[in-house]
Amino acid sequence: MADLKIARIDVFQVDLPYVGGVYRLSGGREYTSFDATIVRITTQSGIEGWGESTPFGSTYIASHALGVRAGIAEIAPKLLGLDPRMVDRINDAMDAALVGHEHAKTALDVACWDIFGKWTGLPVCDLLGGRTGVKMPVISSIPVAEPEAMRRHVAEHRAKGYVGHSIKIEGEPTTDAARIASSLADKNPGEFFIVDANGGLSVETGLRMLRLLPAGLDFVLEAPCATWRECVSLRCRTDVPIIFDELATHDASIVQLIADDAAEGIGLKISKNGGLTKGRRHRDICLAAGYTISVQETTGSDIAFAAIVHLGQSIPERFLRCVLESRDIVTLKTADGAFEVLDGRVTAPTTPGLGVTPRLDVLGEPVATYC
Ligand SMILES: [Mg+2]
Repeated sequence: MADLKIARIDVFQVDLPYVGGVYRLSGGREYTSFDATIVRITTQSGIEGWGESTPFGSTYIASHALGVRAGIAEIAPKLLGLDPRMVDRINDAMDAALVGHEHAKTALDVACWDIFGKWTGLPVCDLLGGRTGVKMPVISSIPVAEPEAMRRHVAEHRAKGYVGHSIKIEGEPTTDAARIASSLADKNPGEFFIVDANGGLSVETGLRMLRLLPAGLDFVLEAPCATWRECVSLRCRTDVPIIFDELATHDASIVQLIADDAAEGIGLKISKNGGLTKGRRHRDICLAAGYTISVQETTGSDIAFAAIVHLGQSIPERFLRCVLESRDIVTLKTADGAFEVLDGRVTAPTTPGLGVTPRLDVLGEPVATYC
């Protein structure tokens, strides 16, 4: 194999304003803009790879934007001179340089996959095991609001062709039950709903909320409680399918999820799990467990969406719930590529690598360079 070495790493920072003004999650959390870190890795032969890591603020999981860039400062010098195609070895080097902080490793890992694809002439989904051919449904992200406003928000996405909706709830049983009933009121055949509490329920409020719902509503409940114990306790006392998200972040937690028979599925977020290399492993563990998988990101712009689409495109249809249309949440476009959503569905492009062409005028000058 011809020699290929990482020669330079540039780090860019952009703010991604939320498209709807203020995004509300359980526990009174509010977000108006997301701080994105975008990385360009250049090889000594001139191949460029791109990756993105955009935390959902600093109050969603244990990740934050300043941490992404501080982590990259720890890691990047250790990657110079390494072969970006050896993605597992790249991750060994990153784990040796910094324990945890998976969100900091993500942009670097994804950029290596982009280079790997460009070097082989294959799209990343083919390197991840091969394109399935599935036209993947995208899912909306409906923030906490009054019940009727959420019903209208769902309708707006339905009109754009979305068949999947992620409904955020707040943690107050009566209002949350009304939010769910209202959001599902106009449900069409073939549509699916994820009710996402983002850890905002206790076991008590969760059980009360579920008892207040009309019978026969078709949904799954994602991330009901903040702790593992609470989620398992609630699960033991309801027949509603449970999906894990915030608490499933790394090899050990995903293996424990299966050992505890704690869920029916998972929200696989690439930056939460550390990039595509670890995301690939988590995909395979979850497939072996028979889980339903939603491929997502904490949030992000076009480069993050490209990684979502390529990982999603490698998951068999039976196990793929949806991919998150992260671009719909923010107003800034950071890259171009053939990622058009048609009738609520998207497929990965056939161009080598991620298939993105970053907008250099949007990214501006690097905030850090390692060479
Ligand atoms: Mg979620």
